[in-house]
Amino acid sequence: MAEQDGSEPSSAIQVCVRVRPLNPRERDEGLRACVSFDEETKQVVLSAVDKNTLLQLRGATAKGYAFDRRYGQDITSDAIYDDCVAQLVEAVFKGYNATVLAYGQTGSGKTHTMAGGQGIHGVVEEGVTPRVIRHIFALAEAIRKKEKPGEKTQVSAYGLELYNEDLRDLALAGGRDETAKGWDGKGGCGSTLKLQERPVGKDGRVVPEVIGVTERVVSGVDELLNFFNLCMDNRSTSSTKLNDRSSRSHAIFTITIQRTVVEVLNELGSDLKAKVRTSEFSSKLHLVDLAGSERVKRSGVTGKELKEATHINSGLLALGNVIVALAGDDTTSGGGKDGKAEKKKATHVPYRDSKLTRLLQDSLGGNSLTVLISCISPSESDFEETNNTLKYANRAC
Ligand code: ADP
Ligand code: MG
Repeated sequence: MAEQDGSEPSSAIQVCVRVRPLNPRERDEGLRACVSFDEETKQVVLSAVDKNTLLQLRGATAKGYAFDRRYGQDITSDAIYDDCVAQLVEAVFKGYNATVLAYGQTGSGKTHTMAGGQGIHGVVEEGVTPRVIRHIFALAEAIRKKEKPGEKTQVSAYGLELYNEDLRDLALAGGRDETAKGWDGKGGCGSTLKLQERPVGKDGRVVPEVIGVTERVVSGVDELLNFFNLCMDNRSTSSTKLNDRSSRSHAIFTITIQRTVVEVLNELGSDLKAKVRTSEFSSKLHLVDLAGSERVKRSGVTGKELKEATHINSGLLALGNVIVALAGDDTTSGGGKDGKAEKKKATHVPYRDSKLTRLLQDSLGGNSLTVLISCISPSESDFEETNNTLKYANRAC
């Protein structure tokens, strides 16, 4: 794990857990919370509320998972922003790439965390992304005030949706209508974009590029907020039993900061004026609202939706494996001779295993910073999915 100086996040990957409040339906049904925090052990404790029934029903025992950052139902997205996201925005201005990922089952609060909206208590809460946008322009303005002639700071953004293995441009309309052109890759508005990997330098690094995506250069907070909202509106949804507007796709909103810096050298040119060197720097921040992590059986899906779920599962699995490998942990990789999983030191980061990880490869690990916000439901009816989410997130710690 990368050691940064005091002003940087202390590790390249930070994993946090956010539990939402019980919603009105859960309350009406008399469902109880099965999630609690143990401040001493820093554990998120998942326990069967009624030992006699739930333990039997689910074969469950109280489980504790330790996380550095735990956010209870009273913690606002603002506080989460200050605690773990603001430092990524600052790092992006120092040239780091960064990624914020919201993971969890449908209905657990991913979109609420990333984009915001009306919360369970009826209060409209701003998500992490609008805060990112404001912070970015505050920093960009501060830099612009000190810029020398010829220097420039440019902010641009694009929105992508990864649905099955298809990449769609969220700046274009058509996302709500699943029969619209593009879902079948036949072109027209919303057609599938191509992901290309451009090698850079001699160390085998590649920079992923999405060919033809609408990258909007923006000059202020409102313009970028409007563009983000447009992208979110264009995100496609389809119904599952869990949530009418369940998102079956990963939404990736990427903000790029490009700077032109002029350096005055200590020598004179032939015209006896000081020589200058102009360099360009570019770094990006991905804000990712992942597709619901729930298991297929739970949503009762078949056919097209089964295909969606299969793609979602493989993307999330690949992402988990990449994060585990980057966290520098021992990773469980494949089966040994006797069919048992072998523990071996992660030497290889399996970016290539999914389009999601290929797309994010230069912004996860290496010289970049990642925050994984694992969103969970407190309801005893979601015990198993919550346990799965905590297990997933715990592997990355
Ligand atoms: P997801 O995107 O994971 O499917 P949502 O973000 O849409 O889930 O959340 C489901 C519902 O719960 C929404 O109505 C949302 O406003 C509400 N909600 C989620 N997290 C919170 C929270 N921390 N506080 C208040 N309401 C929340
Ligand atoms: Mg959502």
